[in-house]
Amino acid sequence: MNLNDKIQAINDSFSKDKKNFKSNSIKFDDFKNKYLGRKGLLSELYPLLNSVSDSDKPECGKKINSIKNVITKEIHSLGNNLSDLSNNALNIDSSMPGTEKFSGSIHPLTKIIDEIKSIFNRIGFSTIYGPEVDTDYYNFEALNIPKDHPARDMQDTFYINKETLLRTHTSSSQIHFMEKNQPPLRIISPGRVYRNEDISVRSYCLFHQIEGLYIDKNVKFSDLKGTLDYFAKSLFGENVKTRFRPSYFPFTEPSAEMDVSCIFCKSKGCNICKQSGWIEILGCGMVDPEVFKFVDYDVDIWSGFAFGIGIERIAMLKYGVKDIRIFYNGDIQFLEQIKL
Ligand SMILES: [Zn+2]
Repeated sequence: MNLNDKIQAINDSFSKDKKNFKSNSIKFDDFKNKYLGRKGLLSELYPLLNSVSDSDKPECGKKINSIKNVITKEIHSLGNNLSDLSNNALNIDSSMPGTEKFSGSIHPLTKIIDEIKSIFNRIGFSTIYGPEVDTDYYNFEALNIPKDHPARDMQDTFYINKETLLRTHTSSSQIHFMEKNQPPLRIISPGRVYRNEDISVRSYCLFHQIEGLYIDKNVKFSDLKGTLDYFAKSLFGENVKTRFRPSYFPFTEPSAEMDVSCIFCKSKGCNICKQSGWIEILGCGMVDPEVFKFVDYDVDIWSGFAFGIGIERIAMLKYGVKDIRIFYNGDIQFLEQIKL
């Protein structure tokens, strides 16, 4: 078949198929593929150009392009009409807004950890990480909590075997870091910690802490107070006041707990601060020289302070959450509500 005959044949076939399509005896996709598909009828025209003389080629090329354009345009126009028809048939209101797509968000605990990290990073603390599965030595003994020490009762522990356990605090990261690094040093260490405790609205078998450690020459308790006061103001706002109460931790001496003035009632007294006007947010103290002995730091040269911040406690205060368990159960409604 020469080119002109083939073009004529395609034109005839197309007119017939157009009628078939309008009478629904051919589906749109089949109709379209028959002409425009990779192996469609129009694709068969180009090889025929090889059989025409060079002088006829431009003319024949024009004819092929022309029929191709006409058929492509018609098929697309029929396709557009088709989608209008099917929209009407389904009774779709195209002016309605689209369905909102679900988008993820940063978990509130991660958000708080990131915020605290950046507050301390700004004043020269670098972030380090320690293992969650650790030995009795790093979690207890090197932190001045020998076996049979009553302080072990404060922290019921998940033991993997006699010597290996899930760490009960991020303080163990301090020992790992100090073994490998010489002072002066300024670090924070965030992470997950575990306690073998009954699960309730206020406690869970795992939670998050950020440990801080500052060691240098002549570090004083006033340095500790200044640093943590800056931290509280950065996190809760310039107007927040801080106070330190004596406390006890085996690895710091003296030890303290830091309270911030209640951010909910502005210290007037409310249910959250139990009418005291103050909320406890962290434990801290000067590093006990006994701890330095475990890592061979000279206690006559170096001194320092350490602190441990409970992330869930801060997150509960910041987001007004009353049940700690909600942070772990993956409740989309809760996460959507406090999307950040
Ligand atoms: Zn209050």
